[in-house]
Amino acid sequence: MNLDTAFIAQVITIISFAVGLSVIVASGRYPIHIRRSLHAYAHGKFLLGSAFLVAGLRDGLWSELLIPLVNGLAISGLTLNYTSVRHLQSRRVWNALPFAAGVVVGLCCLAIVIAGGGLAGVRTLTSGAAALVLAAIAIEVLVRYEARGIPHHVTGILSVGLAFGYLVRMGSALMGDASPLHRIADDQVERVIFVMTFLGTVIGAINYVLMASDEFNRELSRLAHTDGLTGVLNRRRFFEKGEVEFRRARRHGRALTVLILDIDRFKLINDRAGHPFGDRVIRAVADCCAGQIRKEDAIGRVGGEEFALILPETDAETGQHVAERLRAAIERQVAGLAAERGLTVTCSIGGVAMSAEHGEFSDLIAQSDSALYDAKHAGRNQVRFVLPAQRRPFTVPA
Ligand code: GH3
Ligand code: MG
Ligand code: MG
Repeated sequence: MNLDTAFIAQVITIISFAVGLSVIVASGRYPIHIRRSLHAYAHGKFLLGSAFLVAGLRDGLWSELLIPLVNGLAISGLTLNYTSVRHLQSRRVWNALPFAAGVVVGLCCLAIVIAGGGLAGVRTLTSGAAALVLAAIAIEVLVRYEARGIPHHVTGILSVGLAFGYLVRMGSALMGDASPLHRIADDQVERVIFVMTFLGTVIGAINYVLMASDEFNRELSRLAHTDGLTGVLNRRRFFEKGEVEFRRARRHGRALTVLILDIDRFKLINDRAGHPFGDRVIRAVADCCAGQIRKEDAIGRVGGEEFALILPETDAETGQHVAERLRAAIERQVAGLAAERGLTVTCSIGGVAMSAEHGEFSDLIAQSDSALYDAKHAGRNQVRFVLPAQRRPFTVPA
């Protein structure tokens, strides 16, 4: 099959516009950061399609002047692919980057044309720029992307392959067109590059949509597992995690501590300072707890102003220290916020460490809850811990 470059360029134009339009239509059902990424990707395809469309008009009178436009559009479109991947992961990106890259490459092409550098000079520059952007995309999806799957690897490998192709094109342009033999080789390189760009557009678009859908699923599962107000685990997820940790600790004979924490006299805070301020206090307490625990621990919001914590590999003695540290940290760190309304924020904590008498996770929750109840009755702002031997909660000295 001996396809000529003008034909492949037309196919790329049609495919790019079709992909761009489909992605825009599909973007409506996604959350904002994914939608932003999809729009960037679609606009990239529109620019690429436009570049190949204009490239088809190059035989006319203004052919020389259209070269900077074609290459500026193409690099701008490719850079939008890079920014779309950054948006997908909610990473920061300079929004004007694609425009800036397109303008710089376009102006450099213009300078080369005016200086008489010819097509070889333009190809050297634009191929180098394309390889650079493709390498950046490959690094983004193969190295920096947090939860990589098959579509990320396919996109990365595709980008590496295309970057390599553009480097070969750059090398071929650098060699110059001294010999007729080279002209043939050069034409062949151009054809291969066009076919690769075509395949890259099709395969890349499929895998990009899969990446966006992966991201969407992750977002959904994050929403299903976390509490909207505080960002900690919701009740359902916390209990699921608790069951898993309980079984693991039991299987390996490891220690496990569970704490339940309740803000003292919270109704009073709501009544005096209003519900929105109450929400701020709940968030501040959650942040404070999250800042105090290790990454293996888990915290969940199990009631309105009630949190529970799972501390794996933590025995009764360490569990009591952690609980007391949490209580003191909340008293200290939330004081500034509470002082805004002339209030104090304290909490009471009940805890228990796993022992042979606990048959399931809910036993730990029930016992730490009864320890919390005792802490409340003993005057609040204190820790009560159930020790295996005594079964009755005892006061942890502050
Ligand atoms: P105690 O020291 O015995 O815990 O007293 P308390 O006033 O904190 O009593 P309780 O735990 O029964 O009160 C919980 C209050 O928390 C009742 C409810 O109005 C409030 N609350 C529950 N969920 C939210 C919420 O999401 N935001 C706000 N601002 N308040 C909430
Ligand atoms: Mg309370
Ligand atoms: Mg409560």
